[in-house]
Amino acid sequence: MKIYPNKKKKNKVLLELKKILIHSNLTDRGNFIEVKNFRYGYIYDKLPKIENIEGVRKIEVQNKELLPKSYSTNCYFKRPINTNRKFIIAGPCVIDDFNIFYRTALKLKEIGVDAIRTPLFKPRSLPYGYEGMGVRGIEKLKGYKNEINLPFVGEVLDPRDVEKVLDVFEVIQIGARNMKNYPLLKEVAETKKTVLLKRQPKSTLKEFLFSLEYLLKYGAKKVILCERGDDISNLKPSININIIKDIKKEIRVPIIADISHSAKSRKMVMRFFRKSIKYADGIMVEVSVRPELSPIDTKQIIDIDEFLKIKRSVEKYNEEI
Ligand code: PEP
Ligand code: MN
Repeated sequence: MKIYPNKKKKNKVLLELKKILIHSNLTDRGNFIEVKNFRYGYIYDKLPKIENIEGVRKIEVQNKELLPKSYSTNCYFKRPINTNRKFIIAGPCVIDDFNIFYRTALKLKEIGVDAIRTPLFKPRSLPYGYEGMGVRGIEKLKGYKNEINLPFVGEVLDPRDVEKVLDVFEVIQIGARNMKNYPLLKEVAETKKTVLLKRQPKSTLKEFLFSLEYLLKYGAKKVILCERGDDISNLKPSININIIKDIKKEIRVPIIADISHSAKSRKMVMRFFRKSIKYADGIMVEVSVRPELSPIDTKQIIDIDEFLKIKRSVEKYNEEI
């Protein structure tokens, strides 16, 4: 960490810093004071006091000093999903009809996917929309586990529901709206389950990493990040490829692209797939045998034929690795 003081106040700043950072080494480097030997992460708690010292002009904290877990953890894993090659999470937007879900899941299994979307809890922007089967769907969904025999990926909205889904979802999704729901992040992390964390629209790389840090700090060992674009309504297609590139450059945590919620219409899904697959570790995509019957996101869900094209292309990438 570097602290830039006003020239005339440097000695006073040094004195004040010594009171706050009792165990750290402070070195005068001319126009800045170098701080070493402090507890990474916890330095965040000292920053307001340091900022408040009269004569402090600027503080520079490196990401790895602020986010020690995110920058030191290698999160690539083999189970429940092999994240060492490009992987696919596919399935319905929401399970509203178990028959359609079952037929879709069997088709996807036959074609070959790494995990199935099994959403029972849906966050809705308006309180009038279908919110999924919720807790009522858990037992029924469990009945399909043996036959489908693929990891189930499902979002949880309420920390009180986390425990209830532990033996039905192999991967717990934290949706875009909840990226900053800290009680939920903690609760899910403590289960030690694999977590899929989606980026909240318009949030920065740093904010995304802050939420990742929560998960890792509270016990998660396996995390998949997911970029899903900057718009939550059904209006504007967008995906932030730079976030994917930056994550790949900065840390060792898999990141996938949600090519459905970013594309927003099925005719755009392929385009968004092509844009992102080169950089991302995998994709999430909404697929159904009867897309037109889905009560949510009907116009963006692709059918099996369209999905086949995506699958073939992902396979090609994996052959090249
Ligand atoms: C979803 O993936 O089911 C979903 C609701 O997406 P998001 O949280 O990205 O809006
Ligand atoms: Mn959806």
